[in-house]
Amino acid sequence: MKRLFSVLLLLAFCVTSFAQNQGYGYPMDLKPVSFSSTYGELRRNHFHAGLDWRTGGHNGEPLKAIKAGYVCRISVSPVGYGNALYIQHPDGTMSVYGHMDHFRSDIAARVRQEQYKNKSWRVYFELEPHEFPLEKGEVFGYSGNTGSSGGPHLHMEIRTDGDNLPLNYLASGVYKIEDHKSPVINKVGFYAFEDSTSIPQVRRIQMISNPDKFKGTVEVSDKFYIAIDAVDYMEGTTGRLAVERYTVMLDGEKVFEFKVGDVPYSDGKYFACLVQQGESGRDLLKTWCVPNNGLTYKIQSVNDGIISLEDGDVHTLKIVVADCFGNASSCSFKIHKDSSIKVYDPADMTGLFAALWYAPTIYSRDGMTMKIEPASLNASAYLKCEKVGKESPAMGVYSDIWHLGEEDIHLQKRIRVRFDTGRVPEELRDKAYIVQKDAKGGTSYAGNDPVEGGIEASCRFGTYYVSVDTIAPRLWPRVEDGATLPANGRFSVEAVDDESGVSTFEALWDGEWILSQLHNGRIQFYPDGSHQTGQMHTVEVTAADHCGNSTQIIFDVKY
Ligand SMILES: [Zn+2]
Repeated sequence: MKRLFSVLLLLAFCVTSFAQNQGYGYPMDLKPVSFSSTYGELRRNHFHAGLDWRTGGHNGEPLKAIKAGYVCRISVSPVGYGNALYIQHPDGTMSVYGHMDHFRSDIAARVRQEQYKNKSWRVYFELEPHEFPLEKGEVFGYSGNTGSSGGPHLHMEIRTDGDNLPLNYLASGVYKIEDHKSPVINKVGFYAFEDSTSIPQVRRIQMISNPDKFKGTVEVSDKFYIAIDAVDYMEGTTGRLAVERYTVMLDGEKVFEFKVGDVPYSDGKYFACLVQQGESGRDLLKTWCVPNNGLTYKIQSVNDGIISLEDGDVHTLKIVVADCFGNASSCSFKIHKDSSIKVYDPADMTGLFAALWYAPTIYSRDGMTMKIEPASLNASAYLKCEKVGKESPAMGVYSDIWHLGEEDIHLQKRIRVRFDTGRVPEELRDKAYIVQKDAKGGTSYAGNDPVEGGIEASCRFGTYYVSVDTIAPRLWPRVEDGATLPANGRFSVEAVDDESGVSTFEALWDGEWILSQLHNGRIQFYPDGSHQTGQMHTVEVTAADHCGNSTQIIFDVKY
């Protein structure tokens, strides 16, 4: 008991020390502060663990340490957070700044040193506390649009618990932000549900847009759930932000509630379990708690969010959505049970096979094998696995074309797809790779891990076949042979591979490794002062595709 008490005391101390710790400054001077995206948005492929601070549509805003500390980590990547810097603060929290344009010059020199040491443009490294200590408000770099970013902004996180727990710091009140706008409920969908077999069946009954204007009575099946499309708004931004809390009440009794709060990184992947799949446009939050949902501790629900009406009377279903400042909106529906609404017709199941979410599934036919690991699916499902095209070597197709699963079924883990390469002529077999064909007919490289008698790839659900790539990448410099480089030394080489795509490349400057980055089919070079001698230099570029075909070019530049 005493121990429990001290744990509780410690917990209470941690909570209050963070809540009272209002010593955080702003990361930029831009006023008024506004956001284009908030914590915990419903995104199918990742969890938004921070706030996106608007930067007035431009790059180059000076970024300041929100609290004293030291630069503890830096990462440079063409995807994700792009140029990102992490500051460790003495109170145990860490602040993270993503999509930066560039680092302060002394920090940039340290990054370059690490890039040369690792012979890689992409780096991720830890720093010692004495290297770059920062005062609160000290500038360490400039805002930008690097990595997976759709426009200039600052992605900022505050983490705690090592760096495992990104905090919902807008909700925690770290910054005094005024917000008097309520969330808006755009759509509510009603879904018939049946689980008489081990595979739950779902069918949409009705989708209601502008639910506050809806007047009629919704006829529902014996068991059903709902999905809600709601967004929050805030003063000073047109951004569509995340709703903090969703509540559903049946005749005044709460049957479902989800409150985002703080979500550890390890659980972020389960956001996809909350999303109603198979709907186009914005993602809807569903009340059905699927079995593979690891976020159920954030959810209060009766019958896993599956609702049923006891009798044939008209009942009232009320939905309330709220933001973290307590602004709320609601809508209500009259609902009535119609037992004649059926979920599915057994005839719809022909040609499908059952996959249980907790068990491994292997589907193998005519030289193609699909393996699904346990806990890959969010719920058990009937899946499609069909041949949609034939082998056609003249068209570069060396297997049947298979359509596996449904593209909109979300997977927690990728599936493995294996093809026999027996139909590929022997001399071409080491050039074989698995092609993914998208809905618009475009193709891309999926993988070519060698296995006994075939090749394998880690994939999403989609359409796949085997092709071969015997053509090396094409490289052409965007600078004349022997030309003088501009003062900043920047030049590039185009690198294109029409089949399996460029996989690796390397650039040498007078025989020494030089920093370069492949981005959007172009290798960009970054010579610096140490390369500038006023003389002629030899540049050597080698690029290989995923099937081992490679090209080398050599040319001279004056710098
Ligand atoms: Zn962001």
